[in-house]
Amino acid sequence: MLKIGLTGGIGSGKSQVATLLEEWGATIVDTDLVAHQLCQPGGSAIAAIAEQFGSAFITAEQGMDRQRMREHVFANPAERQRLEALLHPLIWDEARRQVMSAGGLYVVVVVPLLIERGRWRNHVDRICVVDCDELTQKQRVRERSGLTDEVIERIMGAQATREQRLAVADDVIVNDGKTTLSTLRQQAEQLHQQWLQQR
Ligand code: ADP
Repeated sequence: MLKIGLTGGIGSGKSQVATLLEEWGATIVDTDLVAHQLCQPGGSAIAAIAEQFGSAFITAEQGMDRQRMREHVFANPAERQRLEALLHPLIWDEARRQVMSAGGLYVVVVVPLLIERGRWRNHVDRICVVDCDELTQKQRVRERSGLTDEVIERIMGAQATREQRLAVADDVIVNDGKTTLSTLRQQAEQLHQQWLQQR
């Protein structure tokens, strides 16, 4: 099975591209979604979160108390690291399991920090980068989430730069401030056809 690693900065348009590829028959494994599922009631991260952070971080429904955890790690990098150290192996195992068992024409694994963390790089056949200028990224994230500029800038500051991403890209989709949804679709369609040939 052909495996595409899809990455890009926050607000670059990864989800938008993944939705199109899924429509055309690709299987999508979204690592953010996997992380979310692991922390839901019944998710496999819950026992470890309760053990390491205490039952105060578990809701009555037995899921992670997201709001509380967000506030807890927000001003505390060491605690954020502790949470990430707990979650990452679980995300990796579950996402790998989904990739290995995927049906469909090919599989696209959406990894926001693919460049930064490196682990996925040896486990995908191609890296596709959704490229966007920082101003547009900020604008989209602001509109989508209502996060403050300060928070958006902090998230972007912890992510790879455009140049670093482009340096390792096998395929690039340009989705900057001048890209319409229709030209985004055209680029994605072209790559879809190319990947079908490469299977
Ligand atoms: P990511 O998954 O990389 O964080 P999204 O795919 O969620 O980014 O896109 C961020 C926001 O910008 C979404 O609300 C999306 O609908 C919008 N968006 C993305 N690309 C375009 C575009 N070319 N034109 C208009 N809106 C876009």
